[in-house]
Amino acid sequence: MIQLIRGFKDILPGEAELWQEIERVSRDLFESFGFKEIRIPVMEKTELFARSIGEHTDIVEKEMYTFPDRKGDLITLRPEATASIVRSYVQHKMYAADPVRKFYTIGPMFRRERPQKGRYRQFYQINAEVIGVDAPYIDAQLIFLLATLLERLKVTDVAAHINSLGCPECRPAFREALTALLDGKKERLCEDCARRSGTNPLRVLDCKVPACREAMADAPSLLEYLCEGCKAHFDSVQRSLNRLGVPFVIDKKLVRGLDYYTRTTFEIQTGALGAQSAVAGGGRYDGLIKMLDGPDTPAIGFAIGLDRLAEIVGLRQADLEKKPRLFIAALGDACAEKAFDWICRLGLAGVHAEMDMADRSLKSQMKQADRCGADLVLILGESELASGSAVLRNMRTKEQAAVVIDDQTAARLLAHIQ
Ligand code: AMP
Repeated sequence: MIQLIRGFKDILPGEAELWQEIERVSRDLFESFGFKEIRIPVMEKTELFARSIGEHTDIVEKEMYTFPDRKGDLITLRPEATASIVRSYVQHKMYAADPVRKFYTIGPMFRRERPQKGRYRQFYQINAEVIGVDAPYIDAQLIFLLATLLERLKVTDVAAHINSLGCPECRPAFREALTALLDGKKERLCEDCARRSGTNPLRVLDCKVPACREAMADAPSLLEYLCEGCKAHFDSVQRSLNRLGVPFVIDKKLVRGLDYYTRTTFEIQTGALGAQSAVAGGGRYDGLIKMLDGPDTPAIGFAIGLDRLAEIVGLRQADLEKKPRLFIAALGDACAEKAFDWICRLGLAGVHAEMDMADRSLKSQMKQADRCGADLVLILGESELASGSAVLRNMRTKEQAAVVIDDQTAARLLAHIQ
């Protein structure tokens, strides 16, 4: 038997209804805030991710699914969506008509991480991005949107963590101070951190290895190094969040993995997921559009992990399951023909009806009706056909109604059901 690839998974009917509901609630919310859907390819030139995410990040160093196509050009299965959205914004010169654009997209991402609970190699994200707005209002609005979405999906036990990563003006001084601190502690750090302390020292701040945490306990906070502009921006984000009533904690260790982040960065964490506590994350990336050959335009966005979200939403799968409204137990060819005609007509009218198509006994058809969960059952045998009337039974209330059998029966059934 051929099995699926390690780290990949199927989303089966039953669970898929939950995903559909999450997607529906997300789309509704985004569209009420003026976001438009964008669909981008799952593969891009490797260079796009290497250049935007950064050469010295975990994703680019070791997690990308990269291979040469037949001509030898390197292509990569997208590990995240922001780079592609920005590529699209720049390629289609969307800034020319209106530099301010709000996008959302939902789809699979691919990272060759070590598979474990809550961490897959193909996983799904819901992304929202706003390009062209510098104002801290938009930072607060995105965090507010995330908090609202989680509330609508009945997710409890969540906390918004926020931090500011500064800008190219103020971050170098912090980086220097951090590098100096790390120089004296290299032998106490894990292998990854010892290596990246020279190339990506910020990343050491949020390493989960206990020895690194201990070594970084007295690390300086980027917030102490913010320039006037970044400080005023971050203060303003916090004031807006307070006015909107969104609770948050300032988390000076929140640096996130990608190079393109600037200023506000945030993560939604939950206690409900065990080790993989981040359900969503995002932040500003004011330099990325220029880095990808577009105009110097600010931007901010977030990504929600759909797989993780599906595990913690307070919606019950059973409430979302769709069952047929009607099951027709038809006995013999003449009855089956009529039943078939009716279920097709009901389907056209938006009502799901089922029948047995294997000429089974009445007893096993009744079992089938019970299994599929239809509350209405119509029994149609030779005698019903002869008398021109059949009984429609409500299996929950036990009520019964006679239905005339003629060329209007589908419409009569529809009237009963609606
Ligand atoms: P990131 O793009 O790394 O900031 O991730 C954003 C969100 O995507 C995280 O908060 C997770 O919920 C989710 N996520 C990231 N990597 C994975 C993974 N390998 N498996 C499942 N979800 C993931």
